[in-house]
Amino acid sequence: MSGTHSDAVISRRVRALETLLEERGVIGPTVLDEALDAFLAGATPLNGARVVARAWTDPEFKERLLADGTSAVAELGYSAGGVQPQRLRVVENTEDTHNVVVCTLCSCYPVRLLGPSPGWYKSEAYRSRVVREPRAVLAEFGFTLPPDTEITVWDSSAETRYMVLPRRPTTGSLREEDLTAMVTRNALIGTAPL
Ligand code: FE
Repeated sequence: MSGTHSDAVISRRVRALETLLEERGVIGPTVLDEALDAFLAGATPLNGARVVARAWTDPEFKERLLADGTSAVAELGYSAGGVQPQRLRVVENTEDTHNVVVCTLCSCYPVRLLGPSPGWYKSEAYRSRVVREPRAVLAEFGFTLPPDTEITVWDSSAETRYMVLPRRPTTGSLREEDLTAMVTRNALIGTAPL
Protein backbone atom coordinates (compact mmCIF):
# COMPACT_ATOMS: atom_id res chain seq x y z
CA MET A 1 0.00 0.00 0.00
CA SER A 2 3.03 2.27 0.35
CA GLY A 3 3.14 5.17 -2.05
CA THR A 4 -0.51 4.79 -3.05
CA HIS A 5 -2.17 7.27 -0.70
CA SER A 6 -4.98 8.17 -3.04
CA ASP A 7 -7.93 10.14 -1.67
CA ALA A 8 -9.99 6.97 -1.60
CA VAL A 9 -7.42 5.15 0.49
CA ILE A 10 -7.10 8.03 2.91
CA SER A 11 -10.90 8.38 3.24
CA ARG A 12 -11.21 4.69 4.00
CA ARG A 13 -8.53 4.93 6.66
CA VAL A 14 -10.14 7.99 8.26
CA ARG A 15 -13.50 6.25 8.26
CA ALA A 16 -11.98 3.14 9.85
CA LEU A 17 -10.30 5.24 12.52
CA GLU A 18 -13.52 7.13 13.32
CA THR A 19 -15.40 3.86 13.64
CA LEU A 20 -12.75 2.42 15.91
CA LEU A 21 -12.74 5.50 18.17
CA GLU A 22 -16.53 5.42 18.38
CA GLU A 23 -16.69 1.66 19.04
CA ARG A 24 -14.18 1.97 21.85
CA GLY A 25 -16.11 4.86 23.32
CA VAL A 26 -13.18 7.26 22.92
CA ILE A 27 -15.42 9.75 21.15
CA GLY A 28 -19.18 10.08 20.73
CA PRO A 29 -20.62 9.71 17.25
CA THR A 30 -21.22 13.46 16.86
CA VAL A 31 -17.90 14.72 18.16
CA LEU A 32 -16.04 14.59 14.87
CA ASP A 33 -18.94 16.22 13.00
CA GLU A 34 -19.04 19.01 15.55
CA ALA A 35 -15.30 19.52 15.49
CA LEU A 36 -15.40 19.72 11.71
CA ASP A 37 -18.32 22.16 11.80
CA ALA A 38 -16.48 24.32 14.30
CA PHE A 39 -13.35 24.28 12.22
CA LEU A 40 -15.15 25.15 9.00
CA ALA A 41 -17.54 27.71 10.38
CA GLY A 42 -15.60 29.84 12.81
CA ALA A 43 -17.92 28.63 15.53
CA THR A 44 -18.13 31.18 18.34
CA PRO A 45 -20.78 32.39 20.79
CA LEU A 46 -20.70 35.66 18.86
CA ASN A 47 -22.80 33.89 16.22
CA GLY A 48 -25.51 33.07 18.75
CA ALA A 49 -25.26 36.60 20.15
CA ARG A 50 -25.86 38.05 16.68
CA VAL A 51 -28.95 35.88 16.26
CA VAL A 52 -30.29 37.03 19.64
CA ALA A 53 -29.60 40.73 18.98
CA ARG A 54 -31.38 40.46 15.64
CA ALA A 55 -34.38 38.85 17.33
CA TRP A 56 -34.46 41.64 19.92
CA THR A 57 -34.47 44.33 17.25
CA ASP A 58 -36.59 42.69 14.54
CA PRO A 59 -39.91 41.26 15.79
CA GLU A 60 -40.61 39.46 12.51
CA PHE A 61 -37.25 37.74 12.61
CA LYS A 62 -37.92 36.78 16.22
CA GLU A 63 -41.22 35.21 15.23
CA ARG A 64 -39.51 33.18 12.49
CA LEU A 65 -36.70 32.23 14.88
CA LEU A 66 -39.08 30.82 17.49
CA ALA A 67 -41.19 29.06 14.86
CA ASP A 68 -38.29 27.47 12.97
CA GLY A 69 -34.83 28.16 14.36
CA THR A 70 -33.03 26.19 11.68
CA SER A 71 -34.32 28.32 8.78
CA ALA A 72 -34.16 31.60 10.67
CA VAL A 73 -30.46 31.27 11.54
CA ALA A 74 -29.79 30.22 7.95
CA GLU A 75 -31.02 33.72 6.95
CA LEU A 76 -27.99 35.05 8.83
CA GLY A 77 -25.69 32.53 7.16
CA TYR A 78 -25.58 29.95 9.94
CA SER A 79 -26.36 26.47 8.78
CA ALA A 80 -26.97 23.79 11.37
CA GLY A 81 -26.01 21.17 8.85
CA GLY A 82 -23.27 18.66 9.43
CA VAL A 83 -23.16 15.22 7.99
CA GLN A 84 -26.40 14.64 9.88
CA PRO A 85 -29.11 17.29 9.55
CA GLN A 86 -29.73 19.01 12.87
CA ARG A 87 -32.76 20.94 13.93
CA LEU A 88 -32.29 24.10 15.96
CA ARG A 89 -35.01 25.05 18.39
CA VAL A 90 -34.82 28.47 20.05
CA VAL A 91 -36.63 28.79 23.38
CA GLU A 92 -37.58 32.20 24.73
CA ASN A 93 -37.22 33.39 28.31
CA THR A 94 -40.08 35.54 29.52
CA GLU A 95 -40.91 37.44 32.68
CA ASP A 96 -42.07 34.27 34.43
CA THR A 97 -40.38 31.43 32.52
CA HIS A 98 -36.74 30.49 32.19
CA ASN A 99 -35.11 27.92 29.90
CA VAL A 100 -31.99 25.83 30.41
CA VAL A 101 -30.30 23.50 27.92
CA VAL A 102 -28.60 20.19 28.63
CA CYS A 103 -27.75 16.97 26.84
CA THR A 104 -28.40 14.24 29.38
CA LEU A 105 -27.07 11.49 27.09
CA CYS A 106 -23.78 13.00 26.01
CA SER A 107 -22.92 16.56 25.05
CA CYS A 108 -25.02 17.63 22.04
CA TYR A 109 -24.72 21.37 21.64
CA PRO A 110 -25.20 24.00 18.90
CA VAL A 111 -21.46 24.37 18.27
CA ARG A 112 -21.92 26.60 15.24
CA LEU A 113 -23.78 29.21 17.30
CA LEU A 114 -22.13 28.81 20.70
CA GLY A 115 -18.59 27.68 19.91
CA PRO A 116 -17.06 24.62 21.56
CA SER A 117 -19.01 23.55 24.62
CA PRO A 118 -17.61 24.27 28.09
CA GLY A 119 -16.29 21.42 30.23
CA TRP A 120 -19.09 21.66 32.79
CA TYR A 121 -21.72 21.18 30.07
CA LYS A 122 -20.23 17.74 29.38
CA SER A 123 -19.85 16.84 33.07
CA GLU A 124 -21.85 14.02 34.58
CA ALA A 125 -22.83 16.31 37.46
CA TYR A 126 -24.44 18.97 35.26
CA ARG A 127 -26.10 16.46 32.93
CA SER A 128 -27.71 14.44 35.68
CA ARG A 129 -28.54 17.19 38.15
CA VAL A 130 -29.88 20.05 36.05
CA VAL A 131 -32.92 17.98 35.06
CA ARG A 132 -33.77 17.03 38.64
CA GLU A 133 -32.91 20.22 40.45
CA PRO A 134 -32.44 23.05 37.95
CA ARG A 135 -32.98 25.78 40.53
CA ALA A 136 -30.21 24.44 42.76
CA VAL A 137 -27.81 23.96 39.86
CA LEU A 138 -28.43 27.50 38.58
CA ALA A 139 -27.86 28.84 42.09
CA GLU A 140 -24.44 27.16 42.03
CA PHE A 141 -23.71 29.18 38.89
CA GLY A 142 -24.52 32.23 40.99
CA PHE A 143 -27.83 32.61 39.21
CA THR A 144 -30.77 32.82 41.59
CA LEU A 145 -34.20 32.89 39.99
CA PRO A 146 -37.31 34.17 41.76
CA PRO A 147 -39.21 31.25 43.37
CA ASP A 148 -42.23 31.76 41.12
CA THR A 149 -40.23 31.62 37.88
CA GLU A 150 -41.00 28.43 36.02
CA ILE A 151 -37.89 26.62 34.76
CA THR A 152 -37.97 24.39 31.68
CA VAL A 153 -35.02 22.10 30.96
CA TRP A 154 -34.51 21.14 27.32
CA ASP A 155 -32.73 17.87 26.61
CA SER A 156 -30.69 18.00 23.41
CA SER A 157 -30.12 15.13 21.03
CA ALA A 158 -28.21 14.39 17.87
CA GLU A 159 -31.25 15.60 15.91
CA THR A 160 -32.33 18.65 17.92
CA ARG A 161 -30.17 21.34 19.47
CA TYR A 162 -31.46 24.16 21.63
CA MET A 163 -30.48 27.76 22.20
CA VAL A 164 -32.01 30.11 24.74
CA LEU A 165 -33.33 33.50 23.66
CA PRO A 166 -32.66 35.59 26.78
CA ARG A 167 -34.80 38.55 27.72
CA ARG A 168 -33.55 41.81 26.30
CA PRO A 169 -31.85 43.97 28.94
CA THR A 170 -34.07 46.94 29.69
CA THR A 171 -31.22 49.41 30.02
CA GLY A 172 -28.46 50.51 27.72
CA SER A 173 -28.12 50.96 23.99
CA LEU A 174 -30.65 49.49 21.59
CA ARG A 175 -28.22 49.30 18.68
CA GLU A 176 -27.87 45.77 17.34
CA GLU A 177 -24.06 45.77 17.67
CA ASP A 178 -24.20 46.91 21.29
CA LEU A 179 -26.87 44.35 22.12
CA THR A 180 -24.75 41.63 20.49
CA ALA A 181 -21.86 42.50 22.79
CA MET A 182 -24.06 42.04 25.88
CA VAL A 183 -25.00 38.42 25.13
CA THR A 184 -22.88 35.78 26.85
CA ARG A 185 -22.47 32.11 26.05
CA ASN A 186 -23.91 30.99 29.38
CA ALA A 187 -26.98 33.17 28.85
CA LEU A 188 -27.52 31.27 25.57
CA ILE A 189 -27.35 27.98 27.48
CA GLY A 190 -29.55 29.39 30.26
CA THR A 191 -27.05 29.16 33.12
CA ALA A 192 -26.53 32.92 33.49
CA PRO A 193 -28.76 35.97 33.59
CA LEU A 194 -28.23 38.92 31.28
FE1 FE B 1 -25.47 14.64 23.29
